[in-house]
Amino acid sequence: MKSKFTCIECPLGCAITAEKKGDEIIVTGNKCNRGKDYAIRELTDPKRILTTTVFVENGIHPLLPVKSDREIPKNLIKKCIGELSKVRAKAPVKYGDVICKNVMGTGANIVSSCSMVRKNE
Ligand code: SF4
Repeated sequence: MKSKFTCIECPLGCAITAEKKGDEIIVTGNKCNRGKDYAIRELTDPKRILTTTVFVENGIHPLLPVKSDREIPKNLIKKCIGELSKVRAKAPVKYGDVICKNVMGTGANIVSSCSMVRKNE
């Protein structure tokens, strides 16, 4: 079966087709090898940076934007977001503070994407 991707490795956004034939993955449409590597990763081990929000106590806003500090397996993204819905950060928070270590054993930490001061400060 052929899988189609838009390569996200550079702004050209090549339309790539990848097809598994036996042990080999045939990639077409890529203008460079980064696109081939991307397509093979997408077929065999897709990963993404997770971006979401967590609740923050005593902050000037109720939600704090966060992201993973490395890519995590795509099939764990929903579970990680579910896990993070239970997290309560506490203001003040600085950009880059670790909010959740090693989320779901992925090796990725969830860090703050912005700073947030306490209410009434
Ligand atoms: S295949 Fe190469 S040129 Fe095309 S979008 Fe990907 S990185 Fe860019």
